[in-house]
Amino acid sequence: MPEAAEVIALTQRLLRFDTINPPGQEEACARHIGTLLEAAGYRVRYHPCGEGRANLIATIGGQHERAPICFTGHIDIVPLGVAAWSKDPFAGETDQGRLYGRGSSDMKSGVGAFVTAAIALAPHLERTAGVSLVITAGEETGCMGAFELLKTPGAIGRAGAIVVAEPTANYPYVGHRGAYWLNATTTGVTAHGSMPERGINAVYQGAHAVTRLEQFRFSTPPHAMMGQGTLNVGTFHGGLNINSVPDQARIGIDIRTVPTQKHAHIRDELCAVLGPDVHLETLLDVESVYSDPDDEWVQSVFDVMQPYLGTRPEARTATYFTDAAALKPAYGNPPTLILGPGEPQMAHQTDEYCELERVVQSTDAFIEIMRHWCKA
Ligand SMILES: [Zn+2]
Repeated sequence: MPEAAEVIALTQRLLRFDTINPPGQEEACARHIGTLLEAAGYRVRYHPCGEGRANLIATIGGQHERAPICFTGHIDIVPLGVAAWSKDPFAGETDQGRLYGRGSSDMKSGVGAFVTAAIALAPHLERTAGVSLVITAGEETGCMGAFELLKTPGAIGRAGAIVVAEPTANYPYVGHRGAYWLNATTTGVTAHGSMPERGINAVYQGAHAVTRLEQFRFSTPPHAMMGQGTLNVGTFHGGLNINSVPDQARIGIDIRTVPTQKHAHIRDELCAVLGPDVHLETLLDVESVYSDPDDEWVQSVFDVMQPYLGTRPEARTATYFTDAAALKPAYGNPPTLILGPGEPQMAHQTDEYCELERVVQSTDAFIEIMRHWCKA
């Protein structure tokens, strides 16, 4: 397979771009990919999203009643952390069948695999339903790049199915939970600590709010596969000094949602429970994603992956959120799978690596999935 050497070389090349987010600086990496795709016959568009930052959309074929298949991935990476690495995080070093580097699993190997697959198949795609690649910046900070892309009408084009190549060790996941993070603030009136009757204590207001949050139950039914959403108060800050009546308290709320829930509805419910004295501010708003495991295309991807996994995939969901939260509704909710060669447990870890064998297998599988969709 010529693709084996190509996908490894491309992934190594992508690892050498420092796209740590913040600040991201994904544009150089996006342009490198875009140049390769353009040479292979893709129509390539860059969508800037900040200084030195860009999303990339590449399409081939697509003049067809059947919409293209979309492969998506992000090229930003998380910071290295404080612990020292035993490998250079930007060198693309290989050792005993593993490729090391920040982003090797999450998710430059996934991007490398679908770009290599898309280039290999390009000569056969021109008069088919086509392939559309959506390569985003800023995913690690709440899908910023993908949401930015949606502000340009028509930028993402059409898609009839979506593969999100986040790390799943080549296991196709049918969805993931949503994340909804809120900052709740109470505001009081400060006064000297010896005369509390002259002030309004924001910490007392905040404490009441925390008690209500502890007792809060979602009114929506649990999802058949993903269960019920969760709510956790992760932080509580109030007061500046011991001898004053505090005039502000802040509560950090981490809500994880399932497909029976909509974030706007949860916000309304929380506002009703917390009352008008608690101000809510959204920090992160990424809805859940779910596709019917019995969908024909989902089953066809299960067929493709079965020999690689040695077992028939079952309907499972990922623990993290992805750009599909932005893209799936924008494309009109086509079936969507999270499927990529990275190791999920290596994401964001020190000495992050991916398994070379899985990267090569994923490239072959992506070619098969594209070929099946495009009947090429
Ligand atoms: Zn990721």
